[in-house]
Amino acid sequence: IQEMQLIQNAAKYSSKTAIVDSHGSYTYSRLLEDSKKVAFQLLQSYKKPDLDGARVAFMVSPGFDYVKTQWGIWLAGGIAAPLCISYPLPSLTYVIDDTSASILVYGSEYKEILQPLLERENLIGIEISEIENIEEQDRALPEVPLDRGAMILYTSGTTNLPKGVLTTHRIIQSQIKTLVDAWMWTQEDYTIGILPLHHVHGIINVLSCCLYAGGTIEFIHPFSAEKVLDTFVSGRVNVFMAVPTIYYKLITAYESLSKEAQELLSSQLPKFRLMVSGSAALPVSVMEKWKQISGHYLLERYGMTEIGMAISNPYEGVRKAGHIGFPLPGVDIRLVNEEELIVLPGHPGEIQVKGPCVFKEYWGKPEATAKAFTEDGWFKTSDIAEVEDGYFRILGRDSVDIIKSGGYKISALEIEEVLRKHEHIKDCGVVGIPDEEWGELVVAGLVCDHELDSLELNEWLRERMPAYKTPRKYIFLGDLPRNVMGKVTKNELKKLF
Ligand code: ATP
Ligand code: MG
Repeated sequence: IQEMQLIQNAAKYSSKTAIVDSHGSYTYSRLLEDSKKVAFQLLQSYKKPDLDGARVAFMVSPGFDYVKTQWGIWLAGGIAAPLCISYPLPSLTYVIDDTSASILVYGSEYKEILQPLLERENLIGIEISEIENIEEQDRALPEVPLDRGAMILYTSGTTNLPKGVLTTHRIIQSQIKTLVDAWMWTQEDYTIGILPLHHVHGIINVLSCCLYAGGTIEFIHPFSAEKVLDTFVSGRVNVFMAVPTIYYKLITAYESLSKEAQELLSSQLPKFRLMVSGSAALPVSVMEKWKQISGHYLLERYGMTEIGMAISNPYEGVRKAGHIGFPLPGVDIRLVNEEELIVLPGHPGEIQVKGPCVFKEYWGKPEATAKAFTEDGWFKTSDIAEVEDGYFRILGRDSVDIIKSGGYKISALEIEEVLRKHEHIKDCGVVGIPDEEWGELVVAGLVCDHELDSLELNEWLRERMPAYKTPRKYIFLGDLPRNVMGKVTKNELKKLF
């Protein structure tokens, strides 16, 4: 515990406001006090002086209760496994089984959906509201070594079944510190929490960085673009982080405001210190529109559940649209080809990562863990990138975004960028589907106001890209298939063809 700086810092910030949610606002002292209560309750229910790496799954809405639960699990020496609050029962069961959780902490609003799990004999259920009454005990909390497992987060399941990623306190600490330094988090910062709290983006980049630095986080739950814009107008927020789909929604909400409301908002937005986008490629069009509205060049960065954040555009300096920037301090990055040889600038290669931010293992999957690392210890991300004028640029995921057609390797993301420039295309997803002659055929799912003529569309594209890259088939969709992180699930999209 002594070494868990995130929690230790809270004592220092004591009377500052840490969290604001729909129930009220909470100081750092209160957070620390209530986290200890959770820890004591966990230990009492588990009937041991230390959870010693036992998995504690929890399903709690974003807000004060969520944070005190997470910290309480850590103080009691357990491994925190946050559940997605919008998951259906089978996905929740998957996580409980996969982590072999011993304890399940839940908010009362989730009692019903969790009922079949709570009936299990080997799972201790604790309703968060029951904890309020527990007396603080003189008993000491266990000493938790930094190298003990701290959290299991599941990957977004964009390409496959989600995998549980185990990190230790030391790894989490490194991920937090790197970002606090790179993005200059301070006690003066005030951010809003709108991202799901079962992924790195929401938990590490927003929540933990903010609290580590002594800032304030206000949770807005459930998400509503209008509510977010309202808090922006209030002038109290100065840091904001989101995924590209959310920026897209904010732009749409902005466009439906009255002229006066737009002007009011635009006068507040330049006061922000920092606005970040990540988790999926940020379309250049979204970056440009947001710049027009807010005066901000969004800072795009690249990361993964397995590594935290690894590559980022600069806090100070040029943020390049369509690019993810440079390796963060302390993170080693290399780009290699299929023979594991380092590629030259301007050539595509797989991003491989080494450093204190890299996860420990895929939980319960030693083979998958072994396969994910090279012999000399580099983590293989499966993401393909190239370096252009010193900046990294993502070309896509090896498995779904790099389309192999007629001997060419085609980046789906590049074609999507071009398609988005078409005046009637609101959104799009490009994939490859199996084809006897070509290996794979480039095809595109389009979200448009009305169906476009594919011959005309192809003509329009021919002026903007080589013929071998133009899609051979289009389908028109109301929306693209997405997961809870707003990422396009390309395997689902492929099935539609
Ligand atoms: P799964 O591993 O289950 O298929 P996932 O890879 O989407 O899901 P995450 O760990 O949440 O799960 O996401 C990491 C991935 O998100 C990266 O490997 C990369 O493909 C993508 N990504 C993150 N940031 C960016 C970015 N700025 N631009 C493009 N892609 C990004
Ligand atoms: Mg992944």
